[in-house]
Amino acid sequence: MKGILICPTCGQQTLKVKEEAVKGQLLGPTNLTCEKGKWQVCVNDNCDTVYIKNKTVIRKDELKSAVFFKDKTDDALICYCYKISKGEIKLAVEHGCQTTGEVYKYLNKSKKGSCSSNNPLGKSCSNVFKHTLNLLLKDKVL
Ligand SMILES: [Zn+2]
Repeated sequence: MKGILICPTCGQQTLKVKEEAVKGQLLGPTNLTCEKGKWQVCVNDNCDTVYIKNKTVIRKDELKSAVFFKDKTDDALICYCYKISKGEIKLAVEHGCQTTGEVYKYLNKSKKGSCSSNNPLGKSCSNVFKHTLNLLLKDKVL
């Protein structure tokens, strides 16, 4: 079991996450981060726990905004660099946009920029963006 960390709330396997990504999402002071160790993130959408480090557990209601992997509503942000929500991507799809480039153009956002410091997973949004867009396009066709 070495190296595999389990969420203490739901028992599912967690992912590693950069500390800067955790800090970017916290509502209050970040003194929770004094503990030594590595942050993990639970991406199970049925679990309220988001970040874990040793005995520190941060739940989704302690974060600044809804995180896309915990929240299925249209308010969940997908692109953190430009604050594009799922609802906005949906609107773009309803107006005929089919690629991420078209969505950015429709919403009048430049495609440049990096999500990695703002994104709760500490990664660029591009994969999640594409995934969300593909799901919404599929919904539209069906
Ligand atoms: Zn969990």
